[in-house]
Amino acid sequence: MGIEFRGITKKYPDGTVAVDDLNLTIEDGTITVLVGPSGCGKTTSLRMINRMVEPTSGSILLEGEDIRDSDAALLRRGIGYVIQHAGLFPHRTVLSNIATVPLLSGWDKNKAKKRAAELLEVVGLPAEVGKRYPAQLSGGQQQRVGVARALAADSPVLLMDEPFSAVDPVVREGLQDELLRLQSQLGKTIVFVTHDIDEAVRLGDRVAVLRVGGKLAQYGTPAEVLRQ
Ligand code: ADP
Ligand code: ADP
Repeated sequence: MGIEFRGITKKYPDGTVAVDDLNLTIEDGTITVLVGPSGCGKTTSLRMINRMVEPTSGSILLEGEDIRDSDAALLRRGIGYVIQHAGLFPHRTVLSNIATVPLLSGWDKNKAKKRAAELLEVVGLPAEVGKRYPAQLSGGQQQRVGVARALAADSPVLLMDEPFSAVDPVVREGLQDELLRLQSQLGKTIVFVTHDIDEAVRLGDRVAVLRVGGKLAQYGTPAEVLRQ
């Protein structure tokens, strides 16, 4: 699913302009990385795609449809979302965490648990991890569970906000490789936020560089962006 930002501005109530007249087309089936220094509007841009943040002006089209025409809660349920500290529910097992969205969507318990077990394997975790609680996992394992939970939405769009920034560099490289491997099978439209240009270049089919003040500074393939 392609995503189009048309003249998007976000001004928070305190007057901060986080995103300033952003025009950006995120092509279907690409990993598009939003990169730039802290405070340049990456997270705000990402959260406008699933309506966790509403723009002040402009519109966002998902596969040509204005997202304001869809119910915000349904839209969110249909878009996978991964954040820095996985955001897992601490009092639920790993399997139950992964099964959250299928259960919300009305799947019966057994079918949801079975799907969750499959996804655990997809993200490279052994079956016994499914019975544990998030606090019993390493940071890298938690991020894998976060990815599995987001994949459970089975949506064409996946939003990832610094998903690998809090793990050590060796684990991070493993997670990056895994994401590239997964994406070569899944072909989703992934919007990936990071402040790390090396990560952007490694993962991105397209890279959008933002600068503080919320303006788009550069957009292109990693090679094009590095050349400028
Ligand atoms: P990034 O993800 O690139 O670090 P953000 O989108 O989080 O950037 O923030 C962009 C700007 O908007 C920053 O100046 C930040 O302080 C500000 N900001 C973010 N969220 C809020 C909020 N809820 N209220 C006011 N200002 C905010
Ligand atoms: P943070 O301050 O850590 O960036 P927020 O305060 O915005 O996060 O809260 C986000 C929390 O809500 C996360 O723990 C996240 O797991 C959960 N959340 C919100 N929207 C979604 C969604 N669409 N899918 C999954 N989890 C969500």
